[in-house]
Amino acid sequence: MRVKLDRTLCDGFGICAKHAPQYFPLDDWGYAVLAGDGNIPIDDQDAVQRALMDCPVHAIMELSERRPDDAPPPSMTEPDLDDLKTESNEAEWGFTR
Ligand code: SF4
Repeated sequence: MRVKLDRTLCDGFGICAKHAPQYFPLDDWGYAVLAGDGNIPIDDQDAVQRALMDCPVHAIMELSERRPDDAPPPSMTEPDLDDLKTESNEAEWGFTR
């Protein structure tokens, strides 16, 4: 499990520090700081998951990991310009103002 903390969202309620104080110590103003690199060992994942779920402003996020054997993400494709909706063909696609 890997997490990140968005300190711009943190409102300093301190709930994360209560659940996982070793990962979310509070600074002098009561805002959480992520201790370490965000990698959470398996033994501590329950406490960190609880902190993540209880954070009222969702400042703690779990980062997903891509593994080498995962399927590649779908590639972006160019839009079909013949089917593009514009003002000149709005009568065809039913747009009304
Ligand atoms: S629970 Fe959320 S809002 Fe509260 S201190 Fe932790 S990160 Fe900040």
